[in-house]
Amino acid sequence: MKLPHLDWVNQDSPYLRQHKDGFRLLRFYADMERAFDRYHTDVYLIRIRWALLVAVFLMGMFALLDALTMPSEVRNPVVLLRLGLIVPMLLLTWWSTYHERLVKHLQLIGGFCALAAGLGVVAIVGTARAHDFPLPYEGLILVIVFFYFLAGLRFVAASVCGWLTFLAYLSMELLMGMPAETLIFNCFFLATANVIGSVGCYFLEYASRENFLAQGLLQDLAEKDGLTGLLNRRAFNEYTERSWRQASREQVPVAVMMIDVDFFKRYNDHFGHSAGDEALKKVAGVLAEHAKRPLDVVARYGGEEFIGLWFNVSEMAIREIAEDLRRGVEQLHMAHPQSDAAQVVTISIGIAYLTPRPHIPNEEAQRLADVALYLAKENGRNQAVLKRHGY
Ligand code: GH3
Ligand code: MG
Ligand code: MG
Repeated sequence: MKLPHLDWVNQDSPYLRQHKDGFRLLRFYADMERAFDRYHTDVYLIRIRWALLVAVFLMGMFALLDALTMPSEVRNPVVLLRLGLIVPMLLLTWWSTYHERLVKHLQLIGGFCALAAGLGVVAIVGTARAHDFPLPYEGLILVIVFFYFLAGLRFVAASVCGWLTFLAYLSMELLMGMPAETLIFNCFFLATANVIGSVGCYFLEYASRENFLAQGLLQDLAEKDGLTGLLNRRAFNEYTERSWRQASREQVPVAVMMIDVDFFKRYNDHFGHSAGDEALKKVAGVLAEHAKRPLDVVARYGGEEFIGLWFNVSEMAIREIAEDLRRGVEQLHMAHPQSDAAQVVTISIGIAYLTPRPHIPNEEAQRLADVALYLAKENGRNQAVLKRHGY
């Protein structure tokens, strides 16, 4: 998924900007970070659920091993810690992965659970130590590896959990009076596990962020028009198909608008193609400003033609929007001496206003808007004409 050579991309994409600005500290700009959060959760959710169930199973196996091998004064508190603290924390996190409101905070919840599990295992080692039972401390290394590579935690959460568990272990052994040589060796191994985990986790997250940007950029390239940054015609048809069906189900009206720049061939001939490109970008900017509700869409239909769909809008409102668009382009004050419509660049607008029905295809509205646009051109351009569906 990595896209190492991006010089050929001329699209103004936020994903590309973020890629160029870099993210060494594993942090994107705020909007992008929120989107990455959702992406990361989507990608890892199933994996996290399985990892938690595996952890519950392993904890159960260890509890069984404890029950078979430990004398009762150690066994009881240790099994209680395993089955009464760690397993419920794991199951609680597993449960939270099925609740949308909690999933949003999965790093926090997962991190909290991981830390509780880590401290729980430190307490288990400490309990065994207090009763002179030779429980290997290496279990903590397994727990730390789990934090970094299986729990779905990102670099920051995993590192905090890993290093706090390390510190808790160090404090516990100091309190228990472990001989210095053993303590140094044990801590060295645990710290090494944390260093390996932190470095590995950093690179994994970095790669995951790179994949996220590459996917976003590919989607932008597939869906957006390179010149204006608006959706392209194919993406428009795909997006509006959904709005169309929804409007048909809910029986609410939609408006489809065809927008065409007046005498644009003459503009190009007079000012040159690149000036024409700049003019199209400015017109697109005006259009984008007027379709901001979630189900409203504007797109570049092709050449100097644009198309838009406004969902559940009244006839009066859409007439006002069309007038705002027309005026907005006029007020860009882009001189167009060759135009017969005005002294500046202007647009003509055809509006199809209708309530979709299941048997009427989306294209019917586009055809009707085209008829309205033709009338707007006929009437002298720089104006909007609205047509209702006559069924
Ligand atoms: P009308 O008022 O009837 O719409 O006339 P028009 O000249 O705008 O329409 P016509 O369809 O004859 O010409 C459209 C022109 O748009 C032709 C082409 O030079 C220009 N054009 C199409 N795509 C682009 C583009 O991406 N960049 C530039 N600069 N011009 C474009
Ligand atoms: Mg045209
Ligand atoms: Mg035109």
